[in-house]
Amino acid sequence: MKVCWNITSKCNKNCKYCFKFNKEDLSLEDNKKILKSLIDRKVERIAWTGGEPFLYKDLKELLKLSKENNIINHVNTNASLLNKENLKENIENIDRIIISLDFIDDTLNEEFGIGKGYFNHVSSLLKIIKEVNPSIEIRINTVVFKNNINMMEDLYNELLKYNIDYWKLIRFFPIRGKAIEENDLGVDDEEFVNLRNSFENRKQHFEIIVNDEAELKERHIIVLSSGKLVYSEGGEDIESDDKLI
Ligand code: SF4
Repeated sequence: MKVCWNITSKCNKNCKYCFKFNKEDLSLEDNKKILKSLIDRKVERIAWTGGEPFLYKDLKELLKLSKENNIINHVNTNASLLNKENLKENIENIDRIIISLDFIDDTLNEEFGIGKGYFNHVSSLLKIIKEVNPSIEIRINTVVFKNNINMMEDLYNELLKYNIDYWKLIRFFPIRGKAIEENDLGVDDEEFVNLRNSFENRKQHFEIIVNDEAELKERHIIVLSSGKLVYSEGGEDIESDDKLI
């Protein structure tokens, strides 16, 4: 079983299309109880998300405990809190780091809320992540909107410069939160199919995964930062009565 754990709802960015949940955070002690419950339920993989998961100050300790119990740790991050000095301690128990990157262009990064200088920051990290942890996998997640669909070729050419393992293109879908108010950002079916076709069968050192709306609407099990369990399916979030704590 795989779960997505929103360990915090806090974020230091303000993305226009954000679809995070907004719930209170729990203490480390409570989250340790939740982790124990997930271990007892034989969870095999946790995708740690947020908000920005590195804003949860005890994330490192939870990752370590999870790893000690043979759980695979994926972490979805905007990477803005990582730097050359703190990288090693933060990524040592991560199997796959998943970094958001939608634009190279600084003006668009600023306009969409991830901030000026974001691409340069991610670029500098991509050069050193595998030096610091050679066994880690790196995935870049790109949300595809009408504002960047014509820039995918440039982003692809840029990503060829780095030692990454996966590039995932995710079609924008106004699933929840602020994203619902931004439903004009979406691309039409034909544009998305053309994009998918254009990246099929390319030979490069990383794998390209293209996620359409159907994949996004597949069933996901989400642990909210408040400890509640949610089943997200078909674009709807259904809160479960099942208790992890
Ligand atoms: S999309 Fe991610 S980085 Fe942007 S505000 Fe939401 S949680 Fe933060």
